[in-house]
Amino acid sequence: MTPLRPETRTVHLPQPPVEQSRPITMPLYQTSGFVFDDPAVMADAMGRPDGPYVYGRYTNPTVRSLEQAVSDLEGGAGAVATGSGMGAINTVLLGLLRPGDHLIAQKSLYGGTAAVLNDLAARFGVTVTHVPENDPGALRAAVRPETKLLYLETISNPMVLVADLPAMCAVARELGLVSVVDNTFASPLLCRPIEHGADIVVHSTTKYLSGHTDVVGGLAVAATDELYRKVWHHAIELGASADPFAAWLTLRGMQTLALRMERHCSNARLLATRLAEHPAVAAVHWPGLPSHPSYEIAGKLLPDFGGVFSFDLKGGRAAGERFMRSVRLALLAPSLGGVETLTLHPATTSHRSLGAEELARHGIGEGTVRVAVGIEHPEDLWADIEQALA
Ligand SMILES: *Cc1c(COP(=O)(O)O)cnc(C)c1O
Repeated sequence: MTPLRPETRTVHLPQPPVEQSRPITMPLYQTSGFVFDDPAVMADAMGRPDGPYVYGRYTNPTVRSLEQAVSDLEGGAGAVATGSGMGAINTVLLGLLRPGDHLIAQKSLYGGTAAVLNDLAARFGVTVTHVPENDPGALRAAVRPETKLLYLETISNPMVLVADLPAMCAVARELGLVSVVDNTFASPLLCRPIEHGADIVVHSTTKYLSGHTDVVGGLAVAATDELYRKVWHHAIELGASADPFAAWLTLRGMQTLALRMERHCSNARLLATRLAEHPAVAAVHWPGLPSHPSYEIAGKLLPDFGGVFSFDLKGGRAAGERFMRSVRLALLAPSLGGVETLTLHPATTSHRSLGAEELARHGIGEGTVRVAVGIEHPEDLWADIEQALA
């Protein structure tokens, strides 16, 4: 063959082998596909999640590293990483439900999830019933012949209610429902829902798992191989797959999850305890406080109570908005689970789509403030909150 011309050599770049030297950290495989010698091997790879890597939408070594890491932490059979938490939630719901099915979900849900469930009936003919997160009797009473799925959140937003996972998942199992648990607020370090009977765990890896407020991602972990294959199949059909760079950032963040989580929890404890005694504050919602309705179940399920809490200002909406304008270190921003402390006013932001009545039903007041505590020094955070309250 004649020597290749420069135009061709700039396309086909060398790939020096790394066989003798294994990288310490998982490299970023920024490629959309993989090369085969044999079309039969390629055909086989496209049909199953555990075959050779074939195409970026199916998975990728960097994405697979994240999938395996979280699946192992959660005690699952396999995981599918997605482009966002909502990508994981929709993959699971659209993958497992059919027109005519019925779904039971807890009352207090992440805003994006609540919006999806509100649309399911009109779009896909799937009806939804809401029950409290801690009432297996209400769950049992709500089940119909066409009920397929139970949807829970380990810790809810912004009232930080803790679901009674063992009791609720036991009823779901007995009645043949697939139970899906959003474990974003707890992370697998505070709770592993599969150990309590869940069939599928979903995460917004945007939050604690990645932890540095620089990436959006999601993940669904399945307890059994059969469910894992189903979810994988629907993820590649929907095109919800994670990008390798996002997965790589998430892996990098995850390596410090344990250290961060410890600090998030201890910071939240200090701030929640002090706020509960502040004269401008009517109530503090954090499951580590004996006044919280989930205090007992949280003590049984969780080794610590997470980095998110909310509190009600006595001055109502005006006081809530004034507080938001007065904090300096805590940033007014969406999201949570990152190293920086973020605050928001649920009534006018994350939960603005709920009417006054529904807000009240969730216990969210006009003066409710949510705090997603970061890993800063707690005394700096307290000083900031104290000056904002003043
Ligand atoms: C943020 C969040 C989601 C949605 O995740 P995205 O990554 O924003 O799509 C779902 N559930 C919970 C509990 C969340 O906090």
